[in-house]
Amino acid sequence: MERIYLDNAATTAMDPLVLEAMMPYLTNRFGNPSSIYSYGRESRMGIENARKSVAKLLHAHPAEIFFTSGGTESSNTAITAAVRDLGCKHIISSKIEHHATLHTIDYLHRNGEASLSYVQVLENGHIDLNDLELLLQKSSEKCLVTLMHANNEIGNITNLHIIGTLCKKYDAIFHSDTVQTVGHFPFDLRNTPVDFITGSSHKFHGPKGVGILYINENIKIKPFINGGSQERNMRAGTENLYGIIGFAKALEIASENHESDMKVIQGLKNYMKESIEKNIDGTSFNGDPTGSSLYAVLSVNFQKTDKSEMLLFNLDINNICASGGSACTSGADQGSHVIRALNNDPTKVTVRFSFSKYNTTSEIDQVIEKLKEII
Ligand code: PLP
Repeated sequence: MERIYLDNAATTAMDPLVLEAMMPYLTNRFGNPSSIYSYGRESRMGIENARKSVAKLLHAHPAEIFFTSGGTESSNTAITAAVRDLGCKHIISSKIEHHATLHTIDYLHRNGEASLSYVQVLENGHIDLNDLELLLQKSSEKCLVTLMHANNEIGNITNLHIIGTLCKKYDAIFHSDTVQTVGHFPFDLRNTPVDFITGSSHKFHGPKGVGILYINENIKIKPFINGGSQERNMRAGTENLYGIIGFAKALEIASENHESDMKVIQGLKNYMKESIEKNIDGTSFNGDPTGSSLYAVLSVNFQKTDKSEMLLFNLDINNICASGGSACTSGADQGSHVIRALNNDPTKVTVRFSFSKYNTTSEIDQVIEKLKEII
């Protein structure tokens, strides 16, 4: 059986057109973007054109886009800067955030730099907005609200406009981890009340190790890496030139084909959900799969039995790639912190299937046949 890859929320295959766009910068256009001669100027132009393109697609200003090494760096930077540079001494977040957020806020809290509150999460995985408002209302200190746009494990989508408007009402800074939605949904940052968002190109068929941090033009923070004058003195170090070219190209392709790709991928998710319901007894789904949910993610609970306990391992030996939670924790046996925060039912085994434009219904049929054998 050919390998079937259903873990696209962990990472995606690079689009060949992205590689094609990167190729000149991996070969003959190797100049250091800071060098003043022609080789350097060509590289600089590549980066600045990429920045303009990304800014245009997200409806932001180029000066608001900073290239980073990915979602983790971008979230670390935004959260730490909100506390250290913007005076946020109270962080409000949720227990179902990605570890890039959770471990950063935990560090700042344990280091005595900010107090920390977790907003209630409803049974369907959505944020309790009444509780969020209560926390903001009660806070005697300036708040940073850090809540993700789409959850990478269960797919739930938060409403950036509602949360951002609440933040404005209480003069809080709003950071959203949008790693699962940049390249998957259109953004209009000029009309979205958010201070920081993040993106990572390997989630939408671009290269790994490159991301963006959007910083609203009204926000002024200190440099996040000290050294040379790259990224307008904010993030020193020779730029990931070909990565940045790849990020922009991947976002261009994703934006151009958004409507048609979304339709196909949503179709795959629905097909998988219906096939599981039809063929496998005792299953349920985490989050809000038919409501406000990422079209690429389906989190399934299977009944735990002697056979299904080793489900992920059995899928793997059958050449099917899926995961128990986020890729960063799938090697660890403590299970998913997101699923634990939601239901923690020891009689269930959770598997996240996540889809891309490269998947087919025939692959899903094959996975269902294997699931029927394994469970
Ligand atoms: N946030 C979310 C929601 C993610 O899914 C990921 C991906 O692993 C990250 C942050 C981290 O992004 P990166 O791998 O680019 O550091």
